[in-house]
Amino acid sequence: MPALSSRPVGAHTPTSGGLAKAALPYADTTGAKVVQVYVSNSRGWALPNGDPKQDTLFRDGCAERGIPAFIHAALLVNLGSPTPETVEKSTQTLAHALRRGVAIGAQAVVFHAGSSVDEGHAEAAMRQVRRELLPLLDWTADVGGPMLLVEPSAGGGRSLASRVEQLGPYLDAVDRHPMLGVCFDTCHAWAAGHDLAAEGGMTATLDTLVATVGADRLRLIHANDSKDLCGSTRDRHENIGKGTIGEPAFAELMAHPATAGVPIVVETPSEKHIGHTADITTLTRLTTTPRLTPTPPTHLSAW
Ligand SMILES: [Zn+2]
Repeated sequence: MPALSSRPVGAHTPTSGGLAKAALPYADTTGAKVVQVYVSNSRGWALPNGDPKQDTLFRDGCAERGIPAFIHAALLVNLGSPTPETVEKSTQTLAHALRRGVAIGAQAVVFHAGSSVDEGHAEAAMRQVRRELLPLLDWTADVGGPMLLVEPSAGGGRSLASRVEQLGPYLDAVDRHPMLGVCFDTCHAWAAGHDLAAEGGMTATLDTLVATVGADRLRLIHANDSKDLCGSTRDRHENIGKGTIGEPAFAELMAHPATAGVPIVVETPSEKHIGHTADITTLTRLTTTPRLTPTPPTHLSAW
C-alpha cells in the first residue's frame, strides 16, 4: 500500500520578507507537503542574489519537514521568442533559477514551453529551444543540480506546446535529455482543449501524456481548476472543485498510476492561506479515499 505522502500535495508559496521566513510558516499553516517558489520577480527580468542565511534555513527547514521544493521560473521566459534579446534574457533567467535551485536544494525549475509569437517563426523557435536548453541541461547534469521541467501552456498565441502530444517534439528538440522533465498543469490542459471534465477525460489525457513523454518524465503537477471553458485558451485558475473542471476530474488525477509519487502543487486563488489550505485538504482527501475500500481478507488464504 503506498504511503499517504506518495502524492505530496502543496502550494505555490509566498516568499516576500525572506525565503525561509515566509515559506516555511506558510507550509506549516496550509499543511503543504511540497512548496513551489519564485526566486525572482515573476513578471520582471531582474535576477536577485539570494540571502545565504535564508537559503540555508529554507533548505534545512524543507529537509526537516520532508518537503520537496520547486522553483517556478519568471513568467516572461520564452525561449521561442523571435526577439533575440528576449531569448537571451530567458536563458539567463533559467540559468539563474538553476543556480538558485542548487543553493536552496530545489528538485526542479519549472518554465513555460513558450511561443513562437510570429507566423513563420515556429521552426526557428524549436531550434532556439535546442540551442538554449542543451547547455543548461548539461550544466545542471554536471553539477547534480535541479531538473528543468517544461510546462505546456494554455494554448493560443502560437504556443510551442499546449496539448500534451506537443511535448513529443519539444523533448525531441533536446534529444530527450534526461534532465528535461515535464510539469502538467490541469488548467492549461483544459484551456488547450483536453476535456478533463468528461468521465475518463483526465485519465485519457494522462495516458496520452505518458505515451508521449514516457513513464519517468512527469515530475510535477499543477492542480488548478478553471474559471473558463474547455478549449478557451484562457488561463484563469479556480479553487479545486469550484470551477469548470470539477472535483471528479481531480479524483481521476489522484488515482492515475502516472501521478503516483509525483508532487502536486496548487496555484489557485487564496485569500491569505485560506484557499490553498482548502485545496490541499480536498486533494489530500481525494488521494486517500481509495484507502477506505475494505481490504480483502488476506488472512483467509493462510488457512
Ligand atoms: Zn502552472
